[in-house]
Amino acid sequence: NKTAMVHNFGAGPSILPKEVFEEASRGIINFNNSGLSILEIGHRTKTFQAVIDEAIHTLKDLMHLDAEHEVLFMHGGASTQFFQVPMNLLDEKASAAYTDTGIWGTKAIKEAKLFGNVDVVCSSKDANYSYLPKDFKADPSAAYLHLTTNNTVYGTQWQDLSLFYDQNVPLVADMSSDILSREIDFNKFDLIYAGAQKNIGAAGVNVVIVNKRCLGKVSRKLPTMLDYRNHIEAGSLLNTPPVFAIYVCMLTLRWLKNMGGVSVAEKRNNEKSDLFYQTLDSIPAIRGTVAKEDRSKMNAVFVAENAEVEKEFLALCEKEGMIGIKGHRTTGGFRVSMYNALPYESVKALTDLMLYFANHKY
Ligand code: PLP
Repeated sequence: NKTAMVHNFGAGPSILPKEVFEEASRGIINFNNSGLSILEIGHRTKTFQAVIDEAIHTLKDLMHLDAEHEVLFMHGGASTQFFQVPMNLLDEKASAAYTDTGIWGTKAIKEAKLFGNVDVVCSSKDANYSYLPKDFKADPSAAYLHLTTNNTVYGTQWQDLSLFYDQNVPLVADMSSDILSREIDFNKFDLIYAGAQKNIGAAGVNVVIVNKRCLGKVSRKLPTMLDYRNHIEAGSLLNTPPVFAIYVCMLTLRWLKNMGGVSVAEKRNNEKSDLFYQTLDSIPAIRGTVAKEDRSKMNAVFVAENAEVEKEFLALCEKEGMIGIKGHRTTGGFRVSMYNALPYESVKALTDLMLYFANHKY
């Protein structure tokens, strides 16, 4: 039984609060003392309606959404949004502006090209996405400007979003890996999407927040399941939704609300990432790979000075129960993910281990 010793730094599906696991386990056995499991409850029952209502309401509350913004729970992961967004928002003859800051943005660009013109306004591909390119201007006539707020693979995160607000173009953001981690004026976005499996809840569902005023403007015909308006009308119950995943999202959102909301999560995330990066910068045998001002507070990416150090540090982490810190296959090295549910104590345990490694081995 390893549970007491494990610290989960995995990039996703990632750590969720212990309280959520406990409550969800009870829900599987006997949901709210109904005698039924959450897994055998119909999605059109009052019982499940209460679950999805609370999930939507809590998310609206946590994000301070105005009345124009709708919250949808949908299938297909964030990757489905790569094409569903342009299908709904980009006319064939129109142009959308895209920022190319990593593999997720690149995939979004590829899909958008199936539906209209794509203007890639900036890219940091030349430096393996190790910084965020800030010198760009989107065409004022662009249907929208797309950004990835946090680049999970490379460990960069837009710290100052005013650069985007000042463009005066409708904004669309993939917030899969930093949604609810910091206070943002979410109402400034026409559309936000995020796979749930990091800060929102369980894998199997994604969240779309859409300003309904931007819908219904493209001329193409849309398949029923891919038209956001149908999901809004049906309250995310257009077909059978991923009931259990939505239930886990509801519990996670409730946990975040009880903790004090996004501002409290942000403060904790700052404390965790400060401790982590200070420690990283104090150890010569390892170094961060991205521009300091663009460092992500969710995913810290770093490399060792040579292959031997890398191997030894990974082995030590494995021995000490530090899970999921091996870097993405495209970057190598290490990646430490510090999502909302990761306790400060886990970062402290890891940084202590890093210091031990530095002092005793290198
Ligand atoms: N966008 C970002 C920023 C991600 O981090 C990920 C997955 O990690 C995705 C998109 C793809 O999400 P999904 O696997 O839910 O399609």
